[in-house]
Amino acid sequence: MHLKTLTLRGFKSFASATTLNFEPGITCVVGPNGSGKSNVVDALAWVMGEQGAKSLRGGKMEDVIFAGTSGRPPLGRAEVALTIDNSDGALPIEYSEVTISRTLFRNGGSEYAINGRSCRLLDIQDLLSDSGLGREMHVIVGQGQLDAVLRATPEERRGFIEEAAGVLKHRKRKEKALRKLDSMQGNLTRLGDLTAEIR
Ligand code: ATP
Repeated sequence: MHLKTLTLRGFKSFASATTLNFEPGITCVVGPNGSGKSNVVDALAWVMGEQGAKSLRGGKMEDVIFAGTSGRPPLGRAEVALTIDNSDGALPIEYSEVTISRTLFRNGGSEYAINGRSCRLLDIQDLLSDSGLGREMHVIVGQGQLDAVLRATPEERRGFIEEAAGVLKHRKRKEKALRKLDSMQGNLTRLGDLTAEIR
């Protein structure tokens, strides 16, 4: 599995549609300060479902939409599409190429799609969760974050490893199942009380 292309349209400083092609192996993005290198990384995190505006270096989610420059008016929507080569079947979907896309409108509406088909954020998170590109985004290490990893507590470090190993998803599901069991137990107790009253 490798990332093939990333297309940004109206995302941060990328007003016009811009496509980056990635080959297998290491890709370096170079450019002067402020030219949009980190915006490319933000776009990657965003299309994979990042929900925190702060993680995207903004105050609110709308800040990812091109805000305009002296020569160009602001745009009404931001769109990012990421195409992943899935010829090794690493993603649990029967396509050798998978394109996930996300659109945000200035009025707050948003859309997600997998291979052009509208879907929920959860579908994208589920699709990526076993690939190491999970929702906690530990695969993207931002400027200054290395320090945070080095200073992490053993519990936090365990979280990073669990996310990378795909265990976190199962832990979250287990916690959800335990909560359901708990509420079911409450219902059973209540049912027992009612039955006793009827008798
Ligand atoms: P450095 O090398 O200094 O880290 P960089 O190449 O990583 O810089 P970025 O941080 O990716 O640069 O880009 C910053 C630029 O993106 C700034 O000029 C900022 O004005 C522009 N920018 C960010 N959000 C938007 C937006 N919503 N609309 C228009 N431009 C934006």
